[in-house]
Amino acid sequence: MFNFNDKIAVAVSGGKDSLSLLHILAKMERQRPKASLVAVTVDEGIKGYRDEALKLATENCEELKIPQYVVSFKELYGITLDEVIAQSRLKPKWELTSCAYCGVLRRRALNVAARAVGADKIATGHTLDDEVQTALMNIFRGDISRLVKEKPVTEKVHQRLVQKVKPFCEIPEKESALYAYVKKISFQDTPCPYASEALRNDIRSMLNQMENRHAGTKFTVAKAMERIRPALGGIGKREGFRECGECGEPASAEFCKVCEMLRYLT
Ligand code: SF4
Repeated sequence: MFNFNDKIAVAVSGGKDSLSLLHILAKMERQRPKASLVAVTVDEGIKGYRDEALKLATENCEELKIPQYVVSFKELYGITLDEVIAQSRLKPKWELTSCAYCGVLRRRALNVAARAVGADKIATGHTLDDEVQTALMNIFRGDISRLVKEKPVTEKVHQRLVQKVKPFCEIPEKESALYAYVKKISFQDTPCPYASEALRNDIRSMLNQMENRHAGTKFTVAKAMERIRPALGGIGKREGFRECGECGEPASAEFCKVCEMLRYLT
């Protein structure tokens, strides 16, 4: 996933997975003088939730002496996630979940932040559980092209899109949590107020139940996905990337998803 001289932007939310990843990469980076780390944190603007996570993310960065770059939805888009959700509820046409809005805006924010700090890679704390949940969600939605695209190391499809890697993609969430507890890492453990809406929650419960009854289920699904992706060949191949006609960011159509979303909402 990494080269010896990479500048790595670690996406740090303040939760257990991203902070465990930050601590482990910090330890590894000390033995690799040509590599460097910077933490990037996205402040979505979720009242009563994000402030605590931001504080914990900053405290951990200070403890590890890792520079932190914070980018907020408000400064980037002029609107917080709370405001996005409130607006979307007045306009039911799109019927997207809060996490769907958040995901599109956060992916862009992370990429902008990674570019701003001159990073070669963005490392995220997605665990085995996240990866398997995402794969099943894409299957449940019939979204085969995303099933192919969403993998542990993204392809370089545009020079302004920073490559993303998921070093914990084979690490169960329980182990990442265990690491955080054993190392006494302070992390936020209250869930996002919008999380309960997500299809992901139902899939998480189902997978945990399957794992309890049939140990190894999550690994099996992840390994099956690894073999299925190449077999799906060109489906979802990200060709024809261009610049969005409105903001100039990489887009797969005339206008990017972020601009379409913001135009619809505001
Ligand atoms: Fe965003 Fe959903 Fe995660 Fe909350 S749970 S931070 S809304 S993606």
